[in-house]
Amino acid sequence: AQKLYAGLRTLPATALCGTSVKLFMNAGLMADLPSLDGSGAEGVGLFRTELQFLTRTRVPRRSELARMYAHVMEHAHGKPVVFRTLDIGSDKVLPYMKRIDEPNPAMGWRAIRVGLDKRGVLQMQLQALIRAAAGRALSVMFPFIADAEEFAQARAMLAEQMEREAAMGHAVPTELRVGAMLETPSLAFAAPSFFRSCDFVSIGGNDLKQFFYAADRENERVRRRYDTLSTPFLNLIQMIVDRCTAEGVPVSFCGEDAGRPAEAAVFAALGLRQLSMRPASIGPVKSLIRRIDLSALRQVLDEERARGATCLRPAVTAFLAQARS
Ligand code: PEP
Ligand code: MG
Repeated sequence: AQKLYAGLRTLPATALCGTSVKLFMNAGLMADLPSLDGSGAEGVGLFRTELQFLTRTRVPRRSELARMYAHVMEHAHGKPVVFRTLDIGSDKVLPYMKRIDEPNPAMGWRAIRVGLDKRGVLQMQLQALIRAAAGRALSVMFPFIADAEEFAQARAMLAEQMEREAAMGHAVPTELRVGAMLETPSLAFAAPSFFRSCDFVSIGGNDLKQFFYAADRENERVRRRYDTLSTPFLNLIQMIVDRCTAEGVPVSFCGEDAGRPAEAAVFAALGLRQLSMRPASIGPVKSLIRRIDLSALRQVLDEERARGATCLRPAVTAFLAQARS
């Protein structure tokens, strides 16, 4: 199988109907970068920046971070890298941060909420990203945005840091793309102006599913209880894709489900054109997409929903079995 996937490395994820899906990889370490060439990923769709903060005994220095981010961009050889700002707090406690006890850490003071309240760390991280990307394009996305105002504030903070860097005479990125991670159901229902204010939206399916079903992703008793291919969850994904498309905003999916071939095929059939996954999943996902007709799969999904099916997995499995033979 590895051989088969190696042969696909340079081929596009183009389905039989002619639709192409761009497959990106998720990363979080310098050591992940060689997989960019090895997997044939189009770029890094999600670079998680927590590790550099979690493995230190103090807040990393701006210069250290800038050096690391520049290294990542250099080793991407011109392929795009989307940096997700610090998603920390609550359960992922920094060793040097005062521990606060929260009854529901996943719904507590985390990610962008910390960034907007304790502005120093996020400002420093944004400065490091701007310096690292000087003379290049920079893509940044903010995690765990629950309402339009949080995104507006985060975006404004980034604009301020750009101005500050320029005023200090530093070179700034040639192009800036700013995205929101859609990880809470509330954001799917935001006003149209929110979608228009994003350069892109990335669906964080791990958190989105946990909050949609109120099922803790860390709790073994409930984490596999609800199917990603259930009709309600796919209706939500469909709505997000349709709203982004209507407002002309590119939308991607970067949760773990994007790396599962059947789920990836369904997301593509619902209109997602960019998926980001662990590097080892790119081969299997590409291999399946190249063997199926996405519009035929879409028709199956629509018929099943119209029929009142509560879960689309049986129909999807049957469709894919036919396509595989
Ligand atoms: C997600 O929630 O789907 C996501 C990509 O972010 P993380 O897994 O880091 O919370
Ligand atoms: Mg998340």
